[in-house]
Amino acid sequence: MTLRCALTKCMVCGREAIFLRSYSGEKLCKGCYVGSVEKKVKTTISSYNMFDPEDRIAVAVSGGKDSLSLLHILHKIEMKFPRSELVAITVNEGISGYREEAIEIVSGNCKKLRVEQVVTSFRELYGHDLDEIMNIAEEKGDLSPCSYCGVLRRKALNMVAKKVGSDKLAIAHTLDDEVQTRLLNVIHGDILRIGRVGPVLEGNFAGFVSRVKPLCEVPEREVALFAFLKGIEFQTASCPYREEALRNNIRIFLNRLETEHPGIKYTVLRSLEKIAPSVRELAGKAGLKNCKVCGEPTVTEVCKACQSLRDLGLI
Ligand code: SF4
Ligand code: ZN
Ligand code: ZN
Repeated sequence: MTLRCALTKCMVCGREAIFLRSYSGEKLCKGCYVGSVEKKVKTTISSYNMFDPEDRIAVAVSGGKDSLSLLHILHKIEMKFPRSELVAITVNEGISGYREEAIEIVSGNCKKLRVEQVVTSFRELYGHDLDEIMNIAEEKGDLSPCSYCGVLRRKALNMVAKKVGSDKLAIAHTLDDEVQTRLLNVIHGDILRIGRVGPVLEGNFAGFVSRVKPLCEVPEREVALFAFLKGIEFQTASCPYREEALRNNIRIFLNRLETEHPGIKYTVLRSLEKIAPSVRELAGKAGLKNCKVCGEPTVTEVCKACQSLRDLGLI
């Protein structure tokens, strides 16, 4: 991904290039590379009309490279819009020995950028840590930690984004996350989700905060290099529950394809985007409603979070 060659000049300014963007042929120096990532995010934001100038934007910040890079990029953009503001939301799932460090790192970044930080937790919202939930789930031998965690975190982010009065909720999904998620939805035949994923999920249902993904056109590796070059402090330790075998296989498969066919991730994304509108129509007909248990928006009678907790006898 990165080329260090004294003979290779940056195509923009002529300084020493440190990066070759294989799918476009661009050779860039450090400064022009950082600028190119920021520009890509700005272009994504404007082409999908993600924000309004007076938005209060909640940013989901876990403490990893992607979410902290997003926070730094949005902070830089937001400075030009004095009537908009950012608030970082961190969800403490209750993963002992892991999340504490991440929260500290997020706090440090927020202080540096002078961004308000709100920390919530599974314990506060659901009465149980992920560790406790997994102890019970393992006895029953059902869903994986990431399935519980993802469902409960999505709901937590929406609840807190509402509570702090946000107009938008920005999620740090990269191009890789977006393509992997869409392929997983296809593999699982999850028609509702194939139609409902995308760079913008409109909050046109009361209680659902619009979800936007400003990093969805930036490959994960480019975000990692951006964070490194900008000297952003982020958590490098992996979650002890991390397994997601199928997603990981898709990641490896896509990375191999990308090496042999530069730009294929964009091709897959665009192809799935072509299919999405007709599927979205179906999903639209299903419509959002309020969960019968907690009142949060859902496409089913009882939201997945409540259903998962109910199956474990926790509500
Ligand atoms: Fe949650 Fe899985 Fe991510 Fe760990 S790896 S934080 S369990 S989604
Ligand atoms: Zn340059
Ligand atoms: Zn519910």
